[in-house]
Amino acid sequence: MSPARRPFVVNVADLLRRAGSSREDALEGPLGPLEVVDTRMPAGSTVRVELRLESVNEGIVAKGTVTAPWAGECRRCLEPVHGTLRSEVLEVFEAEPKEGETLLLDGVTIDLEPVVREAILLDLPLAPLCREDCAGLCPTCGVNHDEVACECAPPTADLRWAGLEGLTFEE
Ligand SMILES: [Zn+2]
Ligand SMILES: [Zn+2]
Repeated sequence: MSPARRPFVVNVADLLRRAGSSREDALEGPLGPLEVVDTRMPAGSTVRVELRLESVNEGIVAKGTVTAPWAGECRRCLEPVHGTLRSEVLEVFEAEPKEGETLLLDGVTIDLEPVVREAILLDLPLAPLCREDCAGLCPTCGVNHDEVACECAPPTADLRWAGLEGLTFEE
């Protein structure tokens, strides 16, 4: 495949020639869709990776930051909400990777796509808010309290009903 179609595959031949050498790299390309609960990174989103690559004993250490857009809905008012996540990544690539610890150094290339995917999945916000003090929907009539007030009884009324739920009636 051409480099353009695999934006997160990096050629590290230059680093492998000299142990201890390092360089910065920036990768950018489309990825997705990725989704956790109701928060997702839409298909084809542009993901950016700022990397520092370092050649160590028979391997490559990749350390950096993944930046990706996400979209979801506010957990209180259900309005669309979106943002940008930043994830830190740190991986070691070796010609003979240790299962669950290091990844494959494939000849002179490393593939960061699985690393980037995992980082995004871990950091997608599970219960985003449109803003910290979002008032949410009225539990009784459903209006958005960020936009309008309503005449419904205040939340203290709910406590009385909660008490009734514990009652049982004899036949
Ligand atoms: Zn909200
Ligand atoms: Zn209401």
